[in-house]
Amino acid sequence: MAEFAPVPDFALGPEIPESGYHVTELGGGAYGITSGMVNTMFLVTRKGVVVVDAPPDLGEALLVGIGEVTPKPITHLIYSHAHADHIGSAHLLARDGLRIIAHELTARFIQEARDDRRPLPNETFPGGRKELSVDGERIILEYTGDWHQPGNLFIHLPEQKVLTAIDSFTVRNAPFFRLLFTPHVPTYFEAMDRMLEYDFETVVSGHMALFGTPEDVRTNREYLRDLRTAATQALREVDLREAASAAGVPDDNKQARLKVWIDAVVARATELMPASWDQRLGGNDIFLADNLNTVAWSVFMD
Ligand SMILES: [Zn+2]
Repeated sequence: MAEFAPVPDFALGPEIPESGYHVTELGGGAYGITSGMVNTMFLVTRKGVVVVDAPPDLGEALLVGIGEVTPKPITHLIYSHAHADHIGSAHLLARDGLRIIAHELTARFIQEARDDRRPLPNETFPGGRKELSVDGERIILEYTGDWHQPGNLFIHLPEQKVLTAIDSFTVRNAPFFRLLFTPHVPTYFEAMDRMLEYDFETVVSGHMALFGTPEDVRTNREYLRDLRTAATQALREVDLREAASAAGVPDDNKQARLKVWIDAVVARATELMPASWDQRLGGNDIFLADNLNTVAWSVFMD
């Protein structure tokens, strides 16, 4: 078995009970809910409940968790983006009169997926911003670019000072795999600056058990900058010909030469990354090579 560092204490969230969920009060009627693997939030208004996403890893526990807080009905469901690991239990919430709101691009992905578990939104918007008023509560939906998937939203509750940015980063952890599978690294980097422009005290970012703070966003941004610095330096240092001949790859196998070169770039960038990140973020040892590979290609091509 591969050896991984134990999960550091600072990256551990609350213990998840047998029920499979844990609810955290975020203030002003807003609540966070997590299964330990995924998290999301809901807002209790005067007449009902507004929910962001319905992740399958919570499944029915999302409904049970909301029911523990309030008997009010779920009136609104907002899709943060189209991915099944965040909205693949939306069918459990579906009923007549439920308003399902998403960006137009998200609706297009769902349509393409033909997945019964992800009902199509019945309210979409094409532009960059939409403001909802639900029983006097303000909810601002904003699309600023494809930092995770085209159509992905920042969902801001200005009164509660809660910002939901699903799959933007992982609180107190390195980003999963390749910067959480971003299709566009420059907008992924930019998203951290965008987030810090909002007025918020809590950020809900979609994975693991913890909810974050602006400080957590700043830490992730610093980590990303270190990844970019290390990748940039490694790209300067590692020569394709030297890497290929060191690995004994013949001249005519151009694809293999490219592969050993990028692997050598990642290996060198790994050495250049400050070792202190192991004490600052969980999962650094797990995802460092994948993240550096993604950043190195972006530095090379974008
Ligand atoms: Zn996603």
